[in-house]
Amino acid sequence: MHCPFCRHPDSRVIDSRTSDDGLSIRRRRQCPECGRRFSTTETASLTVIKRSGVVEPFSREKVVSGVRKACQGRPVTDSDLALLAQQVEESVRSTGQAQLDANDIGLAVLPHLRELDEIAYLRFASVYQAFESLDDFDLAIAELRDHPSTGSIAKIDAARLDAANDGTGE
Ligand SMILES: [Zn+2]
Repeated sequence: MHCPFCRHPDSRVIDSRTSDDGLSIRRRRQCPECGRRFSTTETASLTVIKRSGVVEPFSREKVVSGVRKACQGRPVTDSDLALLAQQVEESVRSTGQAQLDANDIGLAVLPHLRELDEIAYLRFASVYQAFESLDDFDLAIAELRDHPSTGSIAKIDAARLDAANDGTGE
C-alpha cells in the first residue's frame, strides 16, 4: 500500500482492528519513509450484477430501500429494516461467492422478511418469485399457514394461552 502523503511504495501495519459487525478490518499504518500514519479498511469484496448487467458493490442501503416499499403501512421500523439488511448481508457472504445476481439478493431477503412481517413477505415474494396468478398467492399463503414464522407461532401460542385461561376462568 502506497503512502498517501509521500507515495512511498511500502507501509507498516501498526494496529489491526475488526469492526463490530466482523465484516471489515481497519488497519492503522505508518510510512517508513515520512513517518506519517494513515488508516485502511479491508472488506471481502461482494458485488452484485444488476439485471441491466451493471456490476456494483453490495449495499445494505439498497436492500433496505428495496424492502421498504413492500413494508409500506406495515408495523416495520427502520431498525427492523437495518437488522434485516445485516442478516441478508451475512447470509449472502456466507455463500462464499464474491459476485451475486440481484435476484439472489432478493431471494436471500425472503426468509428474513418472512420472520419480520408476513404481508410484506407476500408483497416482496410476488415480485421476486414473479407470481403470475392468484394461484401463486394461494400457494404462498398455504405455505405460510403450514409453516408459520416464529413470530406467528408466538402469536398463536399467546392465543392458545388466552383460550386456555378462558377455559379455566370463573
Ligand atoms: Zn510517506
